[in-house]
Amino acid sequence: MVVAQNRPTRLLISKAAVAHNLAETRKAAHAKTVFLAVKANAYGFGLLEVSKAAIDGGADGLAVAVIDEALALREAGFTCPILIMSLIQPEYAGIAAANNFITTVASIDWLGQAAKYINGDVPLRVSVAVDTGMGRIGYRDRAEIDASLNYMEDNASLFTYYGLMTHFSQADSEKVDYFHKQLARWHELTDTLPKPPMIHVANSGAAMYHADEIPHDVIRAGTVVYGIEPSLGELRKDDYLQQIERLETELVFVKQMHEGDGISYGHIYHAHEGEWIGTVALGYGDGLMRKLTGFHVLVNGQECPIVGKLAMDAMMIKLPGNLPVGTKVTVLGTDGDKTIRLDDWADYIGIAPWELSIIFQDRLKRELVERF
Ligand SMILES: *Cc1c(COP(=O)(O)O)cnc(C)c1O
Repeated sequence: MVVAQNRPTRLLISKAAVAHNLAETRKAAHAKTVFLAVKANAYGFGLLEVSKAAIDGGADGLAVAVIDEALALREAGFTCPILIMSLIQPEYAGIAAANNFITTVASIDWLGQAAKYINGDVPLRVSVAVDTGMGRIGYRDRAEIDASLNYMEDNASLFTYYGLMTHFSQADSEKVDYFHKQLARWHELTDTLPKPPMIHVANSGAAMYHADEIPHDVIRAGTVVYGIEPSLGELRKDDYLQQIERLETELVFVKQMHEGDGISYGHIYHAHEGEWIGTVALGYGDGLMRKLTGFHVLVNGQECPIVGKLAMDAMMIKLPGNLPVGTKVTVLGTDGDKTIRLDDWADYIGIAPWELSIIFQDRLKRELVERF
């Protein structure tokens, strides 16, 4: 993995914005304990940068999908609770116990397998996943849950029943029927179970829009803390979140064109006589979609269209005039009275904003700043 340290292109993450969004989420959900989901490189924003911003900004724990992400956090010095939300291979149960991870269990078979790999010095803390209708992982049957809790009790030196969770398939929409179906199933399966220290069912949507109907002391939030409204504005239209990211770069080359000169691969754009075109050091190799052609960036507070196809390492923009190399270019963020958010890209391209951040590549340098 190579990070472009020495290129004037940076994805800045604002600690103040992360802290603000965490506080908004905590308030709306009435949550005591907030785990920030930092799986998949913190939704593309940068695992270590976002995790630092989150812990400094009031998050109580971090939630990941794979054990390698959890190990990377421990290696980087994070001592906070770490929840692994997907199933790990049973072979890694001992490593998970030694690192004090909270792991997810979804079958009695897994416990039997994992037991072979735990030496008993420190029991493994497990969170019991209940499938109430997401159809991904989790117990679907009460008898197997009971058997698993009994198994853990009989093997208390190996396992601690620490959590109970489910995940909603739709919690961020005006359509609430399916949510309520899942909630009813949750009550059916878990109401008479012994209660572990950590009961956690809410992702961003459930935390923001269903807190009063669900256990909400502990939540697992991602999207909303990244500054993306979970319902994409369907359920809440006010501007309560702050943009956590700012993607900025500079003009690295500027030229004046003649009438009809083509720009980039396949010449899908032709310039007019005298037009000024700037090149910036950022392309689809950094994780920008090529479909951003025709969208714009901000230069000196003005919208400048992205012209021609994005190249892997560069893209060209139409300038209002002859601007010097080194002029700042805002690709995401605010310049003057204009702002570009991931939601604007998402609307332009027609996919979800988090699908756009998740593809930011390692080459793109992340940098944590206090505020913008
Ligand atoms: C990713 C994930 C979350 C966070 O979801 P958001 O919708 O981004 O808040 C919560 N719980 C589980 C199990 C997840 O996989």
